[in-house]
Amino acid sequence: MRIPTELTKTAEGLHVWLPEGAGLWGLANCALITSEDEALLVDTPYTTALTAALAEAAGDVMAPGTAITRVVNTHPNGDHTFGNAYFTGAEIISTDMNLERLCSEPTPQQTQSLVRDSACDEPLGWYARKHFGDYDYTGLDVVPPTTTFSGEHTLRVGSTEVRLIEAGPAHTAGDLLVHLPEQGVVLAGDVLFIDDHPVHWQGPLSGVIAACERLLALRPEVVVPGHGPVVGPAEVRAYVGYLRELEGLIHEGYARGVDAYAVASEILAGGFHPQLGLAERIVILTAVEYRHLGGGGVTVPNTIGLLAGAARWAFEQAQPTRASGTAGRPS
Ligand SMILES: [Zn+2]
Repeated sequence: MRIPTELTKTAEGLHVWLPEGAGLWGLANCALITSEDEALLVDTPYTTALTAALAEAAGDVMAPGTAITRVVNTHPNGDHTFGNAYFTGAEIISTDMNLERLCSEPTPQQTQSLVRDSACDEPLGWYARKHFGDYDYTGLDVVPPTTTFSGEHTLRVGSTEVRLIEAGPAHTAGDLLVHLPEQGVVLAGDVLFIDDHPVHWQGPLSGVIAACERLLALRPEVVVPGHGPVVGPAEVRAYVGYLRELEGLIHEGYARGVDAYAVASEILAGGFHPQLGLAERIVILTAVEYRHLGGGGVTVPNTIGLLAGAARWAFEQAQPTRASGTAGRPS
């Protein structure tokens, strides 16, 4: 993992913190909106150490005397909210639904316990150590939003207009997009992943597609995903194509009566977008889609249970195949 020491200027008054997180969980993008002597941060990193690194980099681009006094959380996952506590006294803005669902997210302590106390020879324990074992959650407290809204909420940072647009249920139940109309930029949060297969805990995929179409209707020139490099609208359209293709494959498997894990395994065995990282997330996307197809509706996702499914597939892939070794070797 490479932690950036600088923010990248992406538009006038917008700097983005872009950790190189391809193939990794937990390294999300954050964005700093500055104008005059005001600064607003969109999403906060996963740990105190990451947040301190971001805050130091932010200090280099803010006018002297400027402090981050406002934070927006695009959704309640820890890799976008655990750093909230670092900004003591800040106003934290999100949707009503994000606040409601924050209490059903795995806490820093639960995640730490999963890494430390689970059996390392079982799929979930093995996977948790591999993907979350490098993070230190010690002393992290979850700090909830202090200002919430439903629908749309417009604010100003200095002279910059910032529009917050609720676009869930999609990745989570209450995702929001951040639109900077004067700059032609949308910050997508985890509605959009680039370079890795996405994970969408809430779904259904049609909800994620609708959120992406809502984003495209804002006609941005620049789109910042929750994870991965900054892109333009063409990449968002390609991502919508990916989602539609996946939706079709899952629905076809469901109609055949095949169980979710088997369908996900089939999709992966067929080489579905093999250039993308974290293929095992297809197991999560399929399980969530099946819940909707089965009439499960908008229930609170079982994050750890879904992660266990992905871990099972990754664990199976990592085992030596029966064909290898000395068995069957001609004598
Ligand atoms: Zn994320």
